[in-house]
Parts: sequence; C-alpha cells; structure tokens
Amino acid sequence: MAKAVNPRKRQQGSIDELPGGALRVRVYAGVDPITKRRHDLLEAVSPGPKAWDRAGEIRLRFVAEVKQRRSPRTTATVDQLLDRYLDQHQGGRRTATGYREYVDKHVRPLIGDRKVGSVDADVLDSLYAELRRCREHCTTNRGTDHRAPRPHDCDDRCRPHRCRPLGNATIRKIHYVLSGAHKTAIRWRWVATSPMDQPGSVPDGVGAVESGGAVSAAGRLPP
Ligand SMILES: [Zn+2]
Ligand SMILES: [Zn+2]
Repeated sequence: MAKAVNPRKRQQGSIDELPGGALRVRVYAGVDPITKRRHDLLEAVSPGPKAWDRAGEIRLRFVAEVKQRRSPRTTATVDQLLDRYLDQHQGGRRTATGYREYVDKHVRPLIGDRKVGSVDADVLDSLYAELRRCREHCTTNRGTDHRAPRPHDCDDRCRPHRCRPLGNATIRKIHYVLSGAHKTAIRWRWVATSPMDQPGSVPDGVGAVESGGAVSAAGRLPP
C-alpha cells in the first residue's frame, strides 16, 4: 500500500545532514503552478557549531513564508512570465509586437533565465545599468556597428562599435512591461511581492510610467 503523506507534516519541513556535514533545509511550498511539480523551498547551511540552530531558524522562516503565502510559488523564469504576460496583453497588436521586440532584445538575453521570484531590486538595478551602458549589450568592443540590420556590403558607414545607451523612452517601455508582468505574477500568485514596489527600484527618468502618456505610444525598435 502506498504510504500516505501528511501535508501538514510536509509543510513543517525537514533538515537533513549532507555528506560533509552541511545541512539542508527543505519545506514543501505547494505544487508549482507552471511545472505542476512539487515546489520546495531549499537552503543549505554550511557545517559549524551553530549549523543546527541556523537551519532551525531557516526552517521556521520558510514555514512562516509558506503559511503567509509570501514565498515564490513557482520556479518559473522571467522568460515564461513574459511569454504568458505578452500573450494576454490587452492593447493593439502593434503595441504587443513592439513590446516583444524590446524584451527579446533587452530583457530575455540578460535576465530571461532567472526565476521570477529571484528578481529583486539589485537585479533590476544591474539590468537598467546595462541598458544605459550599451544598447547592443556588447561583450567585447571589437564588433561593428553596421549601417543596416539586413544583409549588405559593408562600406565606410559601418564603423567599429561604440557603446551607446538605450534611450529613456525605451527604458521606460521596458520598465512598463516588467512592472505589468510582475503585477500579473502577483495576481496569479506566482510571487507575493514585486521588486518594482521596493523604494528606489524605478530608474532615473522613468517616473510617471503608470500615468500612461509615453507608454501608449510604444513603437518599434529603432533600426
Ligand atoms: Zn556593415
Ligand atoms: Zn557596446
């Protein structure tokens, strides 16, 4: 006969000793709404005289988070969130296409494989810093800025790459999409809080996003 698992017991979690003496805290946090697999909160504690105390505190914190539904309930990534969010985005098809182009170029390659629940104010800061560094997100400075995106014969209009920041209007649109996606993630109960709600998470020059204005004119990426 299959062994019945008491859900209350699972939600109280466990602490296991790993080979080498580290401890692993595991608390069941429900079924992942995206992957449909069980979702556990996990944290490892390095070996030491205080390890069991520390692990006990973490277990209690996890249990409280699950109880108050504060823990991320999914391992879904930013890419998965953006897919779902943009699929149900209300607004003209052209607007949605414009957003898709922006996130494909400026969000997915940078933070797309992160778990939604791990995106915090620090992650956003470094994302916006990168958008302000180089709109091509170059990794070497040996590339070329071509005169056109389509295939062409290079001439003297194609020059050695020079980093240029992404414009404020574009950063504002990206912020608008990320902010909307996170609000949706809260409504879907994927996560309990949005990093956009933390003070200082709105980059300079990106105020007044909620009031619309610049955002409703979302266009296509400049060539
Ligand atoms: Zn060229
Ligand atoms: Zn560059």
